[in-house]
Amino acid sequence: MRFIHEYRDARAARRLAAAIARTTTCPWTIMEVCGGQTHTIVKFGVDELLPPQITLVHGPGCPVCVTPLELIDKAVEIASIPGVIFCSFGDMLRVPGTHGDLLAARARGADVRVVYSPLDALAVARAHPRRQVVFFAVGFETTAPANALAVVQAQRQGVRNFSLLVAHVLVPPAMEAILASPGNRVQGFLAAGHVCTVMGYEEYRPLAARYGVPIVVTGFEPLDILQGVYMCVRQLEEGRAEVENQYVRSVRPQGNRAARELIAQVFCVVPRRWRGIGEIPKSGLGLQPAYADFDAERRFGLAGRGVEESTECRSGLVLQGVLKPPQCPAFGTRCTPEHPLGATMVSSEGACAAYYRYRRVPAQGAL
Ligand code: SF4
Repeated sequence: MRFIHEYRDARAARRLAAAIARTTTCPWTIMEVCGGQTHTIVKFGVDELLPPQITLVHGPGCPVCVTPLELIDKAVEIASIPGVIFCSFGDMLRVPGTHGDLLAARARGADVRVVYSPLDALAVARAHPRRQVVFFAVGFETTAPANALAVVQAQRQGVRNFSLLVAHVLVPPAMEAILASPGNRVQGFLAAGHVCTVMGYEEYRPLAARYGVPIVVTGFEPLDILQGVYMCVRQLEEGRAEVENQYVRSVRPQGNRAARELIAQVFCVVPRRWRGIGEIPKSGLGLQPAYADFDAERRFGLAGRGVEESTECRSGLVLQGVLKPPQCPAFGTRCTPEHPLGATMVSSEGACAAYYRYRRVPAQGAL
């Protein structure tokens, strides 16, 4: 298959792994930021090709996993209001809230619908003008342009029964929070290629310089990951801390200007809580005042409320690269995809889900 097979070539992978081994002289810890990259690494055994001095740790780049519990609870509450049609991408339906998930709300009679685009949700709103239609706007910078477009179109078309429950998060502030934390062990990053396709990578340069870490914008296939690791290791070995672009087939330094302008028109930067991690300043998007009428939290008058995280779930440590999923005592026993304690076990990009699917091993000390 074009654009897939050539990035999964076994001989090329072995050549890159050998080049990494020849270049490596001491231990390095590198974090891949995105959950899609984590799944590639675990599925294809990319980490097992690397020399033992290289440790890959998994980052917070799974928006489903980091959506705060409070917003999951608000989603369930809004969906449960009679007359509301609550639209969401499918992977949010099984994310556990304090008192259940959206799927359980649907089983109780709530009108929860899976859509593939916010524009599908807007079409539902046009088709049901007497009902309130809410779209759960979850994601990093990658999904923000389409959500912004839905709001702009709703305003232009006068669709007043449409709103967004906004849970957008931004990647660079999360990377900075990891670097600034006292227990940080990350020495280099593989940045998320799809985020940079939208946003470019200029905003990573101050981060690389301030913390002295190489940042390599990297794609999602096995050879992308191996080449990203090679570029990162070369920088580490040469004492450089620069931003480099492995994912040149998709990413330009300035990103996608039209998409960035649309995001800036509709959204503004706000503080955001990250599930299991806590609040990170300037790490989220909220609606600009000009589009406040499309804010579901405001429309339904939902105030902040107390939430209860599972005391057993260690996903915050998993998402910061401190722990690998099999080191969580609940992994594969009390926490499974059928009975998840945390979002990282149900999200299609979650690190716990990746290990459960591809490397189910006895819990604790398995690594
Ligand atoms: S295995 Fe389950 S309980 Fe443990 S960190 Fe992952 S999601 Fe949380």
